[in-house]
Amino acid sequence: MKEHKFDLSGKVAAVTGGGGVLGSYFCKALAEAGANVVVMDLQEEAANKIAEEIVADGGKAIGVAANVLDVDSLKTAKAKIDDVYGGVDILLNGAGGNNPKGTSDDEFYDKEAKKANPELKTFFDLDPKGIGFVMDLNFLGTLLPSQVFGKDMAERKDATIINVSSMNAFTPLTKIPAYSGGKAAVSNFTEWLATYMSKAGVRVNAIAPGFLVTKQNEKLLLNEDGSYTARSQKIINATPMERFGDPEELIGAVLFLADAQYSSFVSGVVLPIDGGFHAYSGV
Ligand code: NAD
Repeated sequence: MKEHKFDLSGKVAAVTGGGGVLGSYFCKALAEAGANVVVMDLQEEAANKIAEEIVADGGKAIGVAANVLDVDSLKTAKAKIDDVYGGVDILLNGAGGNNPKGTSDDEFYDKEAKKANPELKTFFDLDPKGIGFVMDLNFLGTLLPSQVFGKDMAERKDATIINVSSMNAFTPLTKIPAYSGGKAAVSNFTEWLATYMSKAGVRVNAIAPGFLVTKQNEKLLLNEDGSYTARSQKIINATPMERFGDPEELIGAVLFLADAQYSSFVSGVVLPIDGGFHAYSGV
């Protein structure tokens, strides 16, 4: 039997948001599979740090500053990448996220609660600019790099785009209408672009991570003794596997979608990695 091993040697993988929590996992995994990795981030220092860690570990990587909301910045980054590596085979659109500006304090509208506490930030108090910021970061921040890099990717063999959606794209979470809408747009755009690029030989897919525990959010999700907070317990109750995920558990899906040896006929898929959260009605 043929040996089954992810092999991205000779491929160039560019990861936006590569300096972030999940982005750095993606970059390191792609490098371990043999890819030349471009760690792209708004924060150049963060991008360089991850690239240096990869190189120190024996991998190939460079850090490049890029703002996914600025076409000129993306074009400058692309020119640098083309100079060093000659193009991009794998674009992983990892930059994204939520922001308090697009988040309400309440889960359900309670007229009396608002009257008692005028400071309570309800859906009706959300600033359109805050909502626009979150929508843009997730949707435009995925679309613009696909536009800037995608055309040249069509000239390369087995090129592929991987977007990062979220489980809240299937069913919105309370409090975060902008982030839920932004990720729903990412999922929809994944299907749209997969169709558009199908005849040009570029596959387009997305992963939809569920709730993960990372060093950055563990204090919010876990009490000091390691037990679940009230909100965490709600999440666990809605997750058939009854636990949070670990960022490591996203890696298999990323490498599978990146490596055409295994996913050459897979396009337009939004793959949930959420312990069954999306599939469970709660009953
Ligand atoms: P993070 O905040 O740690 O990383 C995001 C990175 O994107 C940061 O390094 C930031 O500097 C960069 N960034 C922000 N704005 C940018 C811009 N305009 N241009 C370029 N880079 C920019 O977040 P994370 O938790 O690693 O999330 C990564 C992705 O995964 C996001 O799309 C997020 O929505 C998604 N996601 C995360 C989770 C989770 O549990 N962490 C779950 C589902 C989906």
